[in-house]
Amino acid sequence: MREAQFWTSVDTSPGETECWPFLGALNIDGYGQYYAGRTLIGTVSAHRVAYVLAHGLASNLPAHRLVRHLCANPPCCNPAHLTVGSQRDNMTDRFRLHRDRPGPHAVRTLIPPPPGGRRVTSGDLKELARKALEAEFWRKIDRSGGDAVCWPWMAASRHDFGYGFVYWEGRHTQAARVAYVLHHGLTLACIDSDLVVRHLCPGGSNPGCCNPRHLKLGTQKQNMHDRLAQGKYDRGDDHFATKVSNREVRALREEYWNAPHGKRPKLEVLAQRHGVYWGTIHRWLRGAGRQEAGGPTGELEPEAEARTNHARGEAHRMVKISDARVRELRETYWSMPTKQRPSTVSLAARLGTDSKTVWNWLHGKSRLSAGGPTSSSENSGQQSGKEPIPDRQS
Ligand SMILES: [Zn+2]
Ligand SMILES: [Zn+2]
Repeated sequence: MREAQFWTSVDTSPGETECWPFLGALNIDGYGQYYAGRTLIGTVSAHRVAYVLAHGLASNLPAHRLVRHLCANPPCCNPAHLTVGSQRDNMTDRFRLHRDRPGPHAVRTLIPPPPGGRRVTSGDLKELARKALEAEFWRKIDRSGGDAVCWPWMAASRHDFGYGFVYWEGRHTQAARVAYVLHHGLTLACIDSDLVVRHLCPGGSNPGCCNPRHLKLGTQKQNMHDRLAQGKYDRGDDHFATKVSNREVRALREEYWNAPHGKRPKLEVLAQRHGVYWGTIHRWLRGAGRQEAGGPTGELEPEAEARTNHARGEAHRMVKISDARVRELRETYWSMPTKQRPSTVSLAARLGTDSKTVWNWLHGKSRLSAGGPTSSSENSGQQSGKEPIPDRQS
């Protein structure tokens, strides 16, 4: 129950007749600030929340109805000291009863409880509050399909890749991570921060899924592998609107698999050459895609380093590189003597994009609006677009 959450923030220990100070933040006037949110009663004044809860009211009091402190002690949340009244009542108390002396004052005539008694939650409040939070968490997940299917995160808080996000135990974290720890009776602190929650859903990794039966702890490396295996990052073709022909796919398979072990080209080099993602090359070489292209395929050994680089590039891709930076890049690049110009691969690494994009910028094939010199303004002969894209081996 959510009410327990509120009462854990109030010190009820002084007893029924005394003031119960609010333990959370106070505003500039000394009133308790309780960020109940819309789900409770939509108020931020702690003593108003106390009044509403203690009287078992279904909704918040209208804003014009003042909840007064008979004790003249703003942080007090004892319902026996709280009554609904007017500002005039406040003034009458202040000057007639208290002779303008500041509070807190002892309350001689306590406010009687409503019929049926006050509803002040007691017992193990910490435990009740924790249960309330957990129930609230699970309400954001659609579990209606049963244990066997995915449980999608329904709340609006989502990460770009579709992961649910939630504030839990004082930090923002993945909803699936919270689902995992709750299901296993753990806390977030129990899990090494290096470990990630992998989505091993029956239909393939489903980032929004919070069904603990589909979740497993693993390393970031394993997680990347899960995604690559599924082609999550295989967006290259669409992204660049390039189509690598069957002949080229077959040729790259032959080049890779016919080379002696240890002399095989790096996947990232092949990826740069063809303007696709590393994961795409990985799939082609394994035969997990483009089977119709023919050529040899095989099992790839883990290339941990390449995978890590790939992950980094992907993260950077989400950052749009400003026009100013593109212009600066063009100015610097074209002002350098030809021999001293850096490779597009190294520029791409520095900018967190790929070499084909950099090449297009430098040659004015894209981001023309950014301004600055391009190869077409220096030498129209390079406009053909048939220039090979340099890679690290060139
Ligand atoms: Zn009081
Ligand atoms: Zn699932």
